[in-house]
Amino acid sequence: MALHLATTLTTVPLLRLRPLIAVLMLSLLTACAGTRPAASATPAASATPASAAVPAPASAPASAPVRFLLTFDDGPASATSANPTVRILETLARNQQQPGIKAVFFTQTRAANGGGTPRGRALIRREQAEGHLVALHSATPRHANHRFMPPAELAASMETGVGDLLAETGVPPTLVRPPFWAYTADTLDIYHAYGLQMLLTDLSANDGKIYGVNWSWHKRSNMLKHLAETRLRWAAGELPEVDGATPVVVTFHDVNSYTSRHLAEYLDILVDVARELDVPLAAQPFYDNREQLERAALARTVADGQARQQLPGFWNWLWH
Ligand SMILES: [Zn+2]
Repeated sequence: MALHLATTLTTVPLLRLRPLIAVLMLSLLTACAGTRPAASATPAASATPASAAVPAPASAPASAPVRFLLTFDDGPASATSANPTVRILETLARNQQQPGIKAVFFTQTRAANGGGTPRGRALIRREQAEGHLVALHSATPRHANHRFMPPAELAASMETGVGDLLAETGVPPTLVRPPFWAYTADTLDIYHAYGLQMLLTDLSANDGKIYGVNWSWHKRSNMLKHLAETRLRWAAGELPEVDGATPVVVTFHDVNSYTSRHLAEYLDILVDVARELDVPLAAQPFYDNREQLERAALARTVADGQARQQLPGFWNWLWH
């Protein structure tokens, strides 16, 4: 069997295996629709010692100092006790790095075990009430891949999601993030038709849910690697300056109980790796005002569906 697989891998062009691998991976990843406790995964790439993978800082930076723009996908969670979304909201409000951090929550408004429940909808209202920016991730019962949805179905779900968030928050959402980072120029056109701009990410905690795994040994090395890559674009002046800072987008999953228990540590890590990479941070390294947060996020959205964008790890290989 092993011999057969090895033969197959060496004789079939790798590109032709992508659809098969995509199906296998998507079936393994519960990503958002799972009912089991949240879990954390770490990419193979982060198993490499960080010191070996991180390029040395370049010459003196000319770009505006960095501000971390925190985003959370897949929520809200609907657990009745130890709710991870609640714990994340509490940590953002009170932590040793910067109290009162405001974040973007890419919600799933019809998730059967989350945003589609009364408890989930109450948490969407709480996110809004506490000054965060509520955005759209999906409006389907499961974590549906927009790339595989018929256009009319995707359009209908965007209309549903925008309506859901308008009903809960009183304002229409302006941001969307595609599940599995899977989009095309056509899906982007549909987002735009519903007043939604698409935000991807620079750094990822790689904490999407995978069954059977609920820890991460690579929190720091992973963030160090991603920030080192982003630093190159920042130093080259490729990232926009907004309100005197360079927004750098960081992605977590608020349904992940591991993330919820370790968010304060993640905040420390972000500040620490910026220091190690000689990346200057704004006086307030995280956003603390919704209007400023939204301006920063909108400046980082993707306007051209044809332009190649860097996606986190595995997804970059899969979709390009
Ligand atoms: Zn997701």
